[in-house]
Amino acid sequence: MVRKFYERFDGWPVAAIGVAVFVGVAYGAYYTYANLLREKAGLLSKLETEREVNYGLLLRVREKEGIINSFQGQINEIFGTVGTLEKLAATDEELLKKYSRVYFLNENYTPSKLEDIEEKYLVETASNYQLHADVYPQLVRLLDASAKEGLDIKVASAYRSFGTQSALKSAYSFTYGSGANTFSADQGYSEHQLGTTVDFSAGETGISGTIVSTKEYKWLKDNAHNYGFILSYPENNAYYKFEPWHWRYVGRALASRLHDEGKHFYDLDQRIIDTYLIKLFD
Ligand SMILES: [Zn+2]
Repeated sequence: MVRKFYERFDGWPVAAIGVAVFVGVAYGAYYTYANLLREKAGLLSKLETEREVNYGLLLRVREKEGIINSFQGQINEIFGTVGTLEKLAATDEELLKKYSRVYFLNENYTPSKLEDIEEKYLVETASNYQLHADVYPQLVRLLDASAKEGLDIKVASAYRSFGTQSALKSAYSFTYGSGANTFSADQGYSEHQLGTTVDFSAGETGISGTIVSTKEYKWLKDNAHNYGFILSYPENNAYYKFEPWHWRYVGRALASRLHDEGKHFYDLDQRIIDTYLIKLFD
């Protein structure tokens, strides 16, 4: 009977074993696959958690950064203000003062630092050859730029001390009588005593009104403001006779404003002029 059974089911054991092996392998594979899915889900959830943690950290970092930046801003502001105040305190306010019947430069005033003007920039007859040391580089730039244009601009006069001016004035008085002893002469004199003012000569003009008809003068009118220089007493001004050779350094910012707006230094309110003191040597 048993034998018959085997006979009847001849080949089944092999098939049964095959099926068993297949099921086993399939189950194993499925088991592994399921495990992998579980692990993946676990990792994803872990990642999500870490992301949240990281995001939280990121927020905190940003928050700190914000605080740091705001501190940095305040620190910069404080240092900036200190820097501005220091700069302002170190800048001689006389250098941008308008001189008038009521406001004269003290006779004992001398510029904080003077520099000799290189000989090649001077006319042969120049007797005043010094300029304020912070203005001198701008003068050199101006003269070099004009020379590049083929122009012949030279310095005929620059810094004049009180003593030099007094001597000049008495010479003028001797020649021209009391007419030279006017308020206006004192005004021009103060500007030279500052060390920031020069009298230019073009070609052979020397210090004279003939400079007006030169190409050098035209160039100065169009370009001197780029180097911080302005005509103190331009044509038709209400303060002094026209002095086309007399140029004062007031800084590039103020000179450019005056040039662009077609205004004169002495027409501007002193309070407005004073706001340019901080930028005087920029
Ligand atoms: Zn002058």
